[in-house]
Amino acid sequence: MHESHMTAWIDSSHLAGANATYIEDLYESYLRNPSSVSDEWQRCFSDMNGGEAETVHSAVQDYFRRVAMDGHARQSMVEVKTDIRQIRVLQLINAYRSYGHQVAKLDPLGLWQRDEVLELSPAFYELSEGDLDTRFNVGSYQGGLPMMSLRDLLSSLQKTYCATIGAEYMHMNSIEEKRWIQARLEAAEGHPNLDAQERRQVLCDLTAAEGLERYLGAKFPGAKRFSLEGGDMLVPMVKALFREASRAGTEEAVMGMAHRGRLNMLINVLGKRPQELFDEFAGKHGESWGTGDVKYHMGFSSDFATNSGHIHLALAFNPSHLEIVNPVVMGSVRARLDRLKDPSGIKVLPITIHGDSAMAGQGVVAETFNLSQTRAFSVGGTVRIVINNQIGFTTSNPQDTRSTLYCTDVAKMVGAPIFHVNGDDPDAVLFVTKLALEYRNTFHRDVVIDLVCYRRNGHNEADEPSATQPLMYQKIKQHPTTRQLYGERLAYCGVVTDAEVEQLVNDYRNALDKGDCVVPEWRPMGQQYQQNWTPYLGHDWDIGYDSRCSRQQLQALGEAICRYPQEFELQRQVQKVYDDRLLMSRGEKLVDWGFAENLAYASLVSAGYRVRLTGQDSGRGTFFHRHAVVFNQKDGQRHVPLEALLPNGQGFEVYDSALSEEAVLAFEYGYATAAPSGLTIWEAQFGDFANGAQVVIDQFVSSGEQKWGRLCGLTLLLPHGYEGQGPEHSSARPERYLQLCAQHNMQICVPTTPAQVFHMLRRQMVRPLRRPLIVFTPKSLLRHPLAVSSLDELADGHFMNVIPEQDTHDPAAVTRVVLCAGKVYYDLLDARRKGDLKQVVIVRIEQLYPFPHAELAEVLAPYPHVREFVWCQEEPQNQGAWYCSQHHFREVMPEGARLFYAGRPASASPAVGYISLHLKQQKALVEDALGQS
Ligand code: AMP
Repeated sequence: MHESHMTAWIDSSHLAGANATYIEDLYESYLRNPSSVSDEWQRCFSDMNGGEAETVHSAVQDYFRRVAMDGHARQSMVEVKTDIRQIRVLQLINAYRSYGHQVAKLDPLGLWQRDEVLELSPAFYELSEGDLDTRFNVGSYQGGLPMMSLRDLLSSLQKTYCATIGAEYMHMNSIEEKRWIQARLEAAEGHPNLDAQERRQVLCDLTAAEGLERYLGAKFPGAKRFSLEGGDMLVPMVKALFREASRAGTEEAVMGMAHRGRLNMLINVLGKRPQELFDEFAGKHGESWGTGDVKYHMGFSSDFATNSGHIHLALAFNPSHLEIVNPVVMGSVRARLDRLKDPSGIKVLPITIHGDSAMAGQGVVAETFNLSQTRAFSVGGTVRIVINNQIGFTTSNPQDTRSTLYCTDVAKMVGAPIFHVNGDDPDAVLFVTKLALEYRNTFHRDVVIDLVCYRRNGHNEADEPSATQPLMYQKIKQHPTTRQLYGERLAYCGVVTDAEVEQLVNDYRNALDKGDCVVPEWRPMGQQYQQNWTPYLGHDWDIGYDSRCSRQQLQALGEAICRYPQEFELQRQVQKVYDDRLLMSRGEKLVDWGFAENLAYASLVSAGYRVRLTGQDSGRGTFFHRHAVVFNQKDGQRHVPLEALLPNGQGFEVYDSALSEEAVLAFEYGYATAAPSGLTIWEAQFGDFANGAQVVIDQFVSSGEQKWGRLCGLTLLLPHGYEGQGPEHSSARPERYLQLCAQHNMQICVPTTPAQVFHMLRRQMVRPLRRPLIVFTPKSLLRHPLAVSSLDELADGHFMNVIPEQDTHDPAAVTRVVLCAGKVYYDLLDARRKGDLKQVVIVRIEQLYPFPHAELAEVLAPYPHVREFVWCQEEPQNQGAWYCSQHHFREVMPEGARLFYAGRPASASPAVGYISLHLKQQKALVEDALGQS
């Protein structure tokens, strides 16, 4: 800075009066628009930054602020008043805070090739050797030390930001959070203060982590175990998380992880008995449920003792599909938080454990970050640990795995702090682990720990990694284990003796030999956790239930859910909907779909069931039928009448979700598997949007109970129906769900009346069964004049799996029975009535799976003479229920009868795009079905 400018600056009466805020504001204006400040200030600021555009200036601001607040600093300011170097030193500090991680020693193998970062060199700021012993003001560094020599400062910055912890936090949006992290990192100066006891514990846990893998490797050579070796620090760090969390008031922790290291977590953290695992290796298995899954997908539940009490642990079951378990974990956590009435998130801790390549590669990771702060899906922050073993199966070159500097860069989208840490420095790992948890518990946001490590073996133990990674594996073969390194270090520091290190190894191996639990902190699970599910265990799908609701109650509920604050002015059409609903409550109008659905929720909420409904337009309903939320036209305020049913408003929740299917559906699956006494519903905007969540449907919803014994009453509402809207909005792809049906794993329903939707939703709760319910819901039918029900049909009755012919007819005159499901019924009915076709009856199958054989047989009993049976569907022949369900129809048809198909011709696309062609097809399939063609 030129002397004259500096003098002008220092001598400014504003600064002399300690008005730093004024200068900061001036500086901000200058950054936005240089000509907004006087020429003199322009020159001053421009010189401050060597004439270059300023990007990182918070240290400068800090400096101003400190000068304003701190008499000593003001004095020092005067000392260096003619010295531009002062400003440059502050820039250097900021550069370390921002880019120090880029040169930190993070890779235990030392293979990373990192570019030089010019901004970290004093020379970049024209600071020379000769400046090293000059003392400078260091702004807010280390909480604001008065003065430091440049030499000491550099050494301190390197220890803090460039040693084995690489902290990325300067991208965060909140100044408060940034300062919070900065204060802790800089106070520790890269020397985390672990006491001897803690370090011994870490060594013990490392011994267990390594010992298990060695033992399994020796006992079951070549068997797949997806060893943790290389990432051994996972075990001590997770156990430390539990201890710290418990101290902070956490009662439960839910974890999700891929297969790598899972056996280690099961045995060394959750306390599964090693003998059970050995039995599984030997091919034995328990007969308690279903058809099982491989051992490295299995979940587990137990309790873990800490000095602050017990913490309940749940490791989520998960499939091979990478990262998909994360939203499941978050959903499970949200359900538990709701149950414990803790919106802060302290009582339940989500921990998700990621692989480096998957973290960068799988889109669902970004989806979950996006959900993390939303009303419907927030869980008070997730602690995310990346086991960064620098390889994804055989892909290890960063140029092939990602387009970002780090595998964790996706976390920056929510401004999450990211702590990269060298997995061979256990003290540093423990330090960032505690820091991460404290951050999560303070700010209730996601935080990432990138545990940089390596994979000692191939992808699995039968795989030879040096075929594809020769240099890396030469290095790994020579590399001592983390336990060895840490044992040596602790012995050197006098924390343990070499003999003790050896003894730990032997003790652990002996414990494994015995086959009993090897986790001293393990405790049997608290009864309450299991009891939540006992009412729903062991029932057949057709167990009896009572979904009735008295007429008086319906009327009272109906009126209650039409109430909204007096000052609310509703939108004109919504007002009409609500006016009509009042008439429906009083029995003066037949009940329509939207009202019946809302009444089902109201009746459940008032009976003490929680109802949670999410989806992209769930408040209003994509097709303007639900209006569970109303908005005041004057000020945009929202009101949810169903919430107002209970005084605490906690019975009903409806959220318009983020535009995600995969993460949102997985979240709701997780929620439903942890909330047995509530109705959890996910609604697709159009039914086929669920395609984006196919992995959740295949890997969890349809098969979770068989594979893992985990019940789930999740309900999917999938708008479906051929209305001429083209290939993408017509079909919810019923064939896909039907194809997944076996062993009564889920219910597939296609209700056609408001009473049916009412009883179906109630049945899902009042029947002591928790099975997924997939509902193909209508669009135009929501307003069809014939799709209405009386209040009495809601008050009495039940969900009819099969609805017989509704018009009066003479069974003896019938020559054709048309079976159908869904909206096409009304088209058939209309044509049959118009054509006065008395010889045709139409039977609706409202539950396609589990197939109601007995009920259909009863409905068909009056027609033993009929030889022509038709299955009519709107979908093309290769889709819909035709191929998946016809064996069920045939099973019930009279002997000698024939089954014909009436529907669209087989097609590669779900529906035609041209409306004229659609109408032609629709007409033809109806005529075919009725025998008119
Ligand atoms: P968690 O709280 O997830 O650890 O579960 C505790 C216990 O409750 C488990 O060990 C199971 O016995 C039972 N449980 C939890 N979730 C389910 C579920 N979705 N279906 C059946 N049982 C469950």
